Amino acid sequence: MRVLLTGSAGFVGSHLTERLLEDGHSVIGVDNYLSGQQRNTELFLGHPAFRFVQADVSLGLPNISESLDWVLHFASPASPPHYQQHQVETLMVGAQGTQNALELARSHGAAFMLASTSEVYGDPHVHPQPESYWGHVNPNGLRSCYDEAKRYAEAITFAYHRTHGLDTRIIRIFNTYGPRMRPDDGRVVTNLVHQALKGQPLTIYGDGSQTRSFQYVSDLVEGVVRLMTAKAGDDLHGPVNLGNPDEYSILEFATVIRELLGEHLKVEFRALPQDDPMQRRPDISRAKSLLGWEPRVPLRTGLARMISDLQPAARFAAQGQNHSVSAGAD
Ligand code: NAD
Ligand code: UDP
Repeated sequence: MRVLLTGSAGFVGSHLTERLLEDGHSVIGVDNYLSGQQRNTELFLGHPAFRFVQADVSLGLPNISESLDWVLHFASPASPPHYQQHQVETLMVGAQGTQNALELARSHGAAFMLASTSEVYGDPHVHPQPESYWGHVNPNGLRSCYDEAKRYAEAITFAYHRTHGLDTRIIRIFNTYGPRMRPDDGRVVTNLVHQALKGQPLTIYGDGSQTRSFQYVSDLVEGVVRLMTAKAGDDLHGPVNLGNPDEYSILEFATVIRELLGEHLKVEFRALPQDDPMQRRPDISRAKSLLGWEPRVPLRTGLARMISDLQPAARFAAQGQNHSVSAGAD
């Protein structure tokens, strides 16, 4: 298949590119580096089935002369500090960027997938969150640029399906982590791992009782590929939660980081950001029955892989161990 992927230079985009190329597909990556990294593009530049176009998808997608089988729309800042720093751009890539990507799919007779988010559930009053839950979202708070952009993106994706018969899919991704996250993205996994590697206190916002459910990136990519290749005829158009249902309070998460990187690490409490969701855990019944999918990588295993990929020497220095290891030893 030939796949156009927006957001290819991002954390998730780079892992998806890698998997699609490994599976023998061609990938046209599009990104403007708003929150992505050039090195994520450079990883694939030598691959004969990969090509990259630098473009802002909110302004327009490049002309593609080749046929396309899929348009995967993953472009959007995803970490709260990034999207709050780029509020208008975040709204635009969810709105105009999504429509541009839908139009590209339509003009090429390609199928379309939207990377939506658990943030459409806001600060949820239903727990765990099934796809049928409509959510509890502040429409003009600090997180609204992201939450409402994705809710609009889902709505216009459905509108193209209903109006034009476009073959569309929507995934709602829950907190995902792994190698190639930007060290300064400000998400809790990145912050705590990097703080621990430097021996700094672990920053906990609020009292740390709020919960998240952390998914390793290879599990997410497997879910995406299964949804792309699922048999037509099933209910493929409705949203599908992709996340790991193992739920941790942020304090418990910090305990896991200390187990892996040093019990001596201190914890430092900071103010809880506005509208920070108090609990989040996916109900993955739909993904299980539709795709036969469920996450495989437990939190400690995924974190060990991420840490090993980052700085194996620093990890063992932090643990006070006298080992000699090479990158990717896990
Ligand atoms: P990321 O910031 O690492 O990647 C997003 C990429 O989109 C970046 O490379 C950025 O430069 C690019 N981009 C942003 N605006 C653009 C524009 N206008 N034109 C072209 N490129 C643009 O984030 P990520 O974690 O890899 O997230 C990827 C997708 O998955 C996003 O749509 C995000 O909303 C969704 N998602 C991710 C998570 C997660 O936990 N990682 C959770 C829920 C949803
Ligand atoms: N958080 C924290 N310390 C940090 C960064 C984040 O305690 O250094 C908290 C944050 O307030 C939230 C949770 O961790 O309750 C997850 O935050 P993240 O930014 O990773 O994702 P999101 O809030 O979008 O789920």
